[in-house]
Amino acid sequence: MNWQLQKREKHVVEKNPDLYGALAKGQSPKFMVFACSDSRVCPSHILDLQPGEAFMVRNIANMVPPYDKTMYSGVGAAIEYAVLHLKVENIVVIGHSCCGGIKGLMSIPDDGTTASDFIEQWVSICAPAKTKVKSEYSGLSFSEQCTNCEKEAVNVSLGNLLTYPFVREAVLKNTLVLKGAHYDFVNGKFDLWNLNFQITPTLAV
Ligand SMILES: [Zn+2]
Repeated sequence: MNWQLQKREKHVVEKNPDLYGALAKGQSPKFMVFACSDSRVCPSHILDLQPGEAFMVRNIANMVPPYDKTMYSGVGAAIEYAVLHLKVENIVVIGHSCCGGIKGLMSIPDDGTTASDFIEQWVSICAPAKTKVKSEYSGLSFSEQCTNCEKEAVNVSLGNLLTYPFVREAVLKNTLVLKGAHYDFVNGKFDLWNLNFQITPTLAV
């Protein structure tokens, strides 16, 4: 496996000597991207992003937790660096079809009992999406509910982004735009939308 990875990396560097020469001096990506860790939905592949174009965070179910210095410092540090130092112009949260993390969230019993050490607590960041889907789409099948939850969870994450003071400030100054997206890799569809302010009325800007 190591041998295979080394061979691929060598191939990429030899193909783009100018690009990597420029990137050695620094990065100035215009995008910060949140995507799922899922091996089927690599954002560079989906959006044809080249090295240097997107500062990326990948985690289970592409979630942005709310501002919390102790519980979510890893994500907070990435957002702080992207917004304050790299000054990215866009943050895009990309959900996707057949997301196991969202299925896990939708499967947490109503009494909140969990069986995992980390996963269920992590995906519960987007519990408001589950609540909304369960009440508004109660007539749909579980699989259809999950599809709706994949999109609603993105909106919860966009709302959570606004709990970071430096994000809110940049959005207010119009130097930063927040976007949601959903990638359906089965049907090859990519939907993109702007922050839905109705999701978090108390934080509306
Ligand atoms: Zn996923």
